[in-house]
Amino acid sequence: AQRLKQGLSRTREQLGKQLTGLFSLGGKIDEDLFEELETILLTADVGIEATQTLLDQLRSRVKKDKLTEAAQLQGALQDALITLLQPLESELDISTHNPFVIMMVGVNGAGKTTTIGKLAKFYQAQGKSVLLAAGDTFRAAAREQLMVWGERNNVTVIAQDGGDSAAVIFDAIAAARARGIDIVLADTAGRLPTQAHLMEEIRKVKRVIQKTDPAAPHEVLLVLDANTGQNAVTQVKTFDDVLGVTGLVLTKLDGTAKGGVIAAIAKSRPHPIRFIGVGESLDDLRPFVASEFVHALFE
Ligand code: GDP
Repeated sequence: AQRLKQGLSRTREQLGKQLTGLFSLGGKIDEDLFEELETILLTADVGIEATQTLLDQLRSRVKKDKLTEAAQLQGALQDALITLLQPLESELDISTHNPFVIMMVGVNGAGKTTTIGKLAKFYQAQGKSVLLAAGDTFRAAAREQLMVWGERNNVTVIAQDGGDSAAVIFDAIAAARARGIDIVLADTAGRLPTQAHLMEEIRKVKRVIQKTDPAAPHEVLLVLDANTGQNAVTQVKTFDDVLGVTGLVLTKLDGTAKGGVIAAIAKSRPHPIRFIGVGESLDDLRPFVASEFVHALFE
């Protein structure tokens, strides 16, 4: 919990401290207070819809419990946030298929490659065997990065010089089958939702993966950089429309004050947030737990 608090320090400073400040002034609950609250939430990228939902919930709580003191709103807001975020809390169950194929997608720099390393470590620690597919065939550096990482950590990486992404991942899944590997983490090239031809290409990669098993990929994991704020919401929508996203990883929550975007995502496309990234080291990946997240923001 301490690590999570540290990781969320900037969002805590921006959002948590401002809210705590607002509520601890000793004032009464009135329209001005709600307006200030609205501004704080919007500034932290909570987004218009989620902000409205939270404020509505607070208003009905104020009525129902006859709250009058601003201080009473702090707990009420935490409850409302937890209620909003709880539907996103859903652990990835990798026991349903073997190998369980996770296709990683996202824009360049979102943290895909780093997250693959973190996930490999996370699952290895649970005694699972992992194989990496260097499916980012656009950037030689991405392949190198993955191979170096694999060597250092004793994880097999399937890569090809040049070649296309779908073929590399297809081969990797076959290799994983032959070796009885539990999990395939398939990297793909970063792309922007606006790059239509690249979005079409990733759809093709998915179709090829389906040839190995109609249920595969068993998880389409969209990696999002929390710094992009409201833009992350657009990314979720576009990747989801093209590919059918099944889970999200929100990275770099440690470096941003825009952690509120998690609430905006909850309101627009409530896909499970499987993990959050709160730092650059391999241990800085945590399963998303709504109450833990909200408490870390305020305490
Ligand atoms: P990719 O292009 O999506 O594969 O992105 P990378 O994995 O190469 O990551 C881009 C940069 O973001 C690297 O410098 C990573 O160290 C950094 N990064 C990734 N995840 C996190 C995170 O959770 N916190 C922080 N602070 N940095 C991260």
